[in-house]
Amino acid sequence: MLPHSSTDVSGTLYIVATPIGNLDDLSKRAKETLEKASYIAAEDTRHTKKLLNFFNVEARLFSLHDHNEKDRAQYIAKLLDDGEDVALVSDAGTPLISDPGYHVVSHLRDLGYKVSPIPGPSAIITALCASGLPTDKFFFQGFLPAKSKSRKDVMQTWKQQTGTTIFYESTHRINDSIADLMAVFEDDVELVLARELTKTFETFLKGKPSYILQRFEEDSNQMRGEFVVMVDYRPQEDESDNDQEARRILEILLTELPVKQASQLAAKITGLKKNFLYQIALDMKP
Ligand code: SAM
Repeated sequence: MLPHSSTDVSGTLYIVATPIGNLDDLSKRAKETLEKASYIAAEDTRHTKKLLNFFNVEARLFSLHDHNEKDRAQYIAKLLDDGEDVALVSDAGTPLISDPGYHVVSHLRDLGYKVSPIPGPSAIITALCASGLPTDKFFFQGFLPAKSKSRKDVMQTWKQQTGTTIFYESTHRINDSIADLMAVFEDDVELVLARELTKTFETFLKGKPSYILQRFEEDSNQMRGEFVVMVDYRPQEDESDNDQEARRILEILLTELPVKQASQLAAKITGLKKNFLYQIALDMKP
């Protein structure tokens, strides 16, 4: 297809976020856009029809899912050429975020069509902002592989990352995924499981993998619903590395200073505890 340069008469493709549970989270602008668009491309037309009925929006729907995206991209381009506006929605949350639409958007943007986001809920941001885990840097993994071996291989790669790692999980696999986290990280991670966000049974469960698995055993309701899992991996500093560095510094200081001053100064240099260094210094003093 030749590059297209959008004109005033071309329509716009709107990427419209819809609620992830609580229907009051549909924004005014999202509703207006759905009302105004000539067509709505939906992941599951029956699902979206219910949402539209609830808001008394007339449904002019066609389906857009992983298996027909390529054809739909051509079809939507044709509608936009005809001056029609099209809204793209998924079953819940922000389209394209672990949902269909990527091929359509990248294709139409490459061709110069107008693509405009109507922002709103997404489970990942909703979960992260209330998790209490670091938010300055995070990595989104989407859904993990279905097989445990591949899942654990992916988890291993997270050891090289800093910041919070986030993935989506379903009720069917939540127990297995946490067990895999336990196998890979032992209890060297802090987890937050955000469940049923914006819904009646919204829950945030925080703890190490062993604690989460124990909660699942005690109360199987904790495994029900939709999950965002957030992983905060902060490897413990190797004590023996600390010891070695402390000994090296104390060795130098003790040639000039008594034990008390040497350990005070070593604490300032290394950031380690004064008492800890004092004990080492005492052992080292001939
Ligand atoms: N596009 C959506 C978004 O913006 O968040 C995500 C769609 S993805 C197919 C569905 C997954 O998102 C669920 O399996 C779950 O992991 C997560 N999710 C969606 N709604 C959720 C909710 N209310 N509470 C917790 N997780 C949710």
